[in-house]
Amino acid sequence: MQVVRTVAEFREARRRLPAPVGFFPTLGYMHEGHISLVERARRECASVVASIFVNPTQFGPNEDFSRYPRDEARDLAMLEGAGVDLVILPSVEEMYPAGDVTRVRVPGLSEVLEGKRRPGHFEGVTTVVAKLFGITEADFAYFGQKDAQQLLIIERMVRDLHMPVTVVRCPTVREADGLACSSRNVYLSPEERAQAVALWAGLRAAEAACGAGERDTDRLRAVCREQIEARPLASIDYLSLADEQTLEELHGLVERPALMSLMVSFGNTHLIDNITLHP
Ligand code: AMP
Repeated sequence: MQVVRTVAEFREARRRLPAPVGFFPTLGYMHEGHISLVERARRECASVVASIFVNPTQFGPNEDFSRYPRDEARDLAMLEGAGVDLVILPSVEEMYPAGDVTRVRVPGLSEVLEGKRRPGHFEGVTTVVAKLFGITEADFAYFGQKDAQQLLIIERMVRDLHMPVTVVRCPTVREADGLACSSRNVYLSPEERAQAVALWAGLRAAEAACGAGERDTDRLRAVCREQIEARPLASIDYLSLADEQTLEELHGLVERPALMSLMVSFGNTHLIDNITLHP
């Protein structure tokens, strides 16, 4: 595995890689969810490239940019073990050189749910992903369904800007008790970690209710909310049942597959998760 830190070095190495090239972008602090994306890329592509970059523009002023967990040596060992050919770890100055002003924005989809709680977050994500697509010239790019809103926004950006890359959706990988793997899970105290199963318990309860014939959107949200409220350390930032494509909040009865998504806080740690309900 070749490790580079500049765009010029990446381009030089990239020229020698056989097509198709699969790309996996991450903030780092790798876990099983990340590795599942790399393994999928490895199966489907002749070459796999990755980026590790804690992107400052997607963090708000009071968010965890400076304390976001980092472990470069461990990350590189995991990427190498999973069969990555080339990885770029750019500096902030490399990604945002002096005078950098261009931003990519996907209005609408970026302003609801997580975007509403984290103003500017998705503009940071789309801007850095557009840069990385330009740098990597990947044929396929692998993203996790765990960040369902991010996936929809990136798919829209790729479509609207005619970017020559195919976005591949990958299923959420979970811990044994159902908590979605996340770099931020390390922030949880043992008590919070035990109660963090609330997100998946809530989503599963709504899924079970839907499977048993419940169609009322308020009832489905309530079934999920009850599970979260049963855990005293958990506090709901949002709980949504929305159209899978537009993310418009649903009212009345669910008639098509719908995205139930939520953000739940344990102290300063914000966790997200989602599930598709099939009525
Ligand atoms: P991050 O490093 O958090 O930006 O995540 C990098 C990529 O891994 C994103 O496409 C995420 O959606 C994906 N990802 C993060 N956690 C999981 C998970 N538990 N299962 C599947 N994919 C994940």
